[in-house]
Amino acid sequence: MQYHESMIELVGNTPLVKLNNVTSPTGATVLAKVEYFNPGGSVKDRIALRMIEAAERSGELKPGGTIVEPTSGNTGVGLAIVAQQKGYRCLFVCPDKVSTDKINVLRAYGAEVVVCPTAVDPEHPDSYYNVSDRLVRETPGAWKPDQYSNPNNPRSHYETTGPELWEQTEGRITHFVAGIGTGGTISGTGRYLKEASDGRVKIIGADPEGSVYSGGTGRPYLTEGVGEDFWPDAYDRNVTDEIIAVSDKDSFQMTRRLAKEEGLLVGGSCGMAVVAALEVAERLTPEDVVVVLLPDSGRGYLSKIFNDEWMADYGFLEEDGTAGAQVGDV
Ligand code: PMP
Repeated sequence: MQYHESMIELVGNTPLVKLNNVTSPTGATVLAKVEYFNPGGSVKDRIALRMIEAAERSGELKPGGTIVEPTSGNTGVGLAIVAQQKGYRCLFVCPDKVSTDKINVLRAYGAEVVVCPTAVDPEHPDSYYNVSDRLVRETPGAWKPDQYSNPNNPRSHYETTGPELWEQTEGRITHFVAGIGTGGTISGTGRYLKEASDGRVKIIGADPEGSVYSGGTGRPYLTEGVGEDFWPDAYDRNVTDEIIAVSDKDSFQMTRRLAKEEGLLVGGSCGMAVVAALEVAERLTPEDVVVVLLPDSGRGYLSKIFNDEWMADYGFLEEDGTAGAQVGDV
């Protein structure tokens, strides 16, 4: 019989798909690593599995223990799936700006979710940060993965995403493009590819305009899961050869084109990464192979990026370069 022991065995080994319609015929071949094929629907399943298994080995996470993490999105889903299969409890802390749909997904997988007010200072006892720290202190057997500083986040990509890409392209990859959130994906995958190619493969980060990685001040942007207002430990800045800043408008317009023209219903950070990948591909020839990593599915963004009214409110549907309402106005 052909079957898998559990959903955990389906983490990783995602397909590479050529982009045919958003690309230019004179530029490089562009291949997309489609991470929504992971069981939890995102690249974050990889780090969830590796962080939990490392904590089991080190004894930080004991049988029947509780995983406490401030997360509202993809990392929470990955942790929740691995935790339920291994018999751990999950306690997640989310700010109240997170959509109820996202919270319901986490609860559907059996996680408990504590919702905290967004409109309080970080020092306030009810703030997102303080509540998660207090839950770690007060919950017996609690363990906090902390994806921003956990070395097993980049390591999971060094051990899986990097080798997969090297094998799938038979060593012909010349450029790797990925968005930077915690920095785990680009640091781990990038380091593996640099080592495997003796430094030949170029590593390019894609970043929302305003984020610190591309020289911004941390001003707000709408692309989710990428960009930061601080420098996390999981990000190794020595690995990236170049960072390309992309506007929300360009990211979201490309996200919609990927669904319409490539059959890829993916998230906003995927559109962002593809904009950067195409900028790189334009400078190259069809012999070059640019791989762009697409972190998640577009299902979580139907009421935003794939909703014309929401897009129009921000001026993101306009053809020219002018933006409509500013982020802070809404
Ligand atoms: N896109 C999305 C939608 C994400 O959830 C994340 C993870 N925060 C990323 C991109 C960036 O990945 P990383 O944290 O590995 O840099």
